[in-house]
Amino acid sequence: MFENKERTDIAELGEFGLIKHLTDHFKIRHESSIKGIGDDAAVLNFGNKEVLVSTDLLLEGIHFDLAYVPLMHLGYKAIQVNLSDIYAMNGIASQVTVSIGLSSKFPLEAVEEIYKGIALACDKFNIDLVGGDTSSSKQGLVISVTSIGYADKKDVVYRNGAQEGDLLCVSGDLGGAYVGLQILEREKQIFLEHPDIQPDLEGKDYIIERQLKPEGRRDIVDLLAQMDIVPTSMIDVSDGLASEVMHLCQQSEKGVTLYEEKLPIDPMTYETARELGLDPTVCALNGGEDYELLFTIKQADYDKLKHDVDISIIGHITDKNSGCKMISKSNVVHELKAQGWNAFKL
Ligand code: ADP
Ligand code: MG
Repeated sequence: MFENKERTDIAELGEFGLIKHLTDHFKIRHESSIKGIGDDAAVLNFGNKEVLVSTDLLLEGIHFDLAYVPLMHLGYKAIQVNLSDIYAMNGIASQVTVSIGLSSKFPLEAVEEIYKGIALACDKFNIDLVGGDTSSSKQGLVISVTSIGYADKKDVVYRNGAQEGDLLCVSGDLGGAYVGLQILEREKQIFLEHPDIQPDLEGKDYIIERQLKPEGRRDIVDLLAQMDIVPTSMIDVSDGLASEVMHLCQQSEKGVTLYEEKLPIDPMTYETARELGLDPTVCALNGGEDYELLFTIKQADYDKLKHDVDISIIGHITDKNSGCKMISKSNVVHELKAQGWNAFKL
């Protein structure tokens, strides 16, 4: 991975030297960040806002494969997936802490790449890096990110607020990250068998980017505020639409009906899924890692967002006894299942 590049042994810097080297150029942007890196704890002050906190743990070999994930993308994605959880509460993310466990195969230059991606995400989404922890690891690379954000009490959106008759909406499009991953996996296998063949990713930029460089939907949080809409419930799509829809319904104690024909699927996702012998609907329902926002709104808010091309209305909330249903394109009613959807034929 870094064979031909400069390799500086991390031991040369020591732990404190490393932390300083990696974090020195991160500046503080938020008034709420009273004290960032450099003391025993960060000090934050949000006045009378509700404070939102979320943590993710990313493990090499479980959540990412360094065979095809560039380190800079990994740093960027680690931040994005975490910010997405704050946006899913209808909040604004303002700070992160980043903890890393480094195996001895990593030279300083590799860690610098990760921090370049972290810095890019922080710049783009206006985030302060206010702390973290650094350790060596015997189990490969470990990255844990905690994000902190805020919202007015009246604006915080939970998973449990969906009401019967509410419209189910999703931002962006679905299934792309999963199909992108299948392409990366395919090219990795070809590379392992024939190291001289260059990966063929031509024409797949969008879905590869969906997998390697997802973006938290802060723009949707801003858009909803502009439209004067507070969703009744919200969740981000990290594990696949079907699973997230069921979380909303379980926590709200409601049912749902969604329509296959309404699922937003990008043409490249659709065509590539077909090429790989996959059902695009199954990819959209179960793929995961889309990091779009899934939310419910009151019918009265419909007129405010009906013309927005980046938001699709894919169904509506029903009573609990009606269960979670999907109406297929051929008008067949399917029971929605988070796992084992693949076993269903559409
Ligand atoms: P402690 O011994 O109290 O855990 P550390 O020496 O680990 O303190 O950390 C010193 C400072 O550097 C703290 O502010 C901590 O939050 C920050 N820090 C440590 N590791 C990282 C990292 N990987 N990224 C960002 N900040 C870090
Ligand atoms: Mg420490």
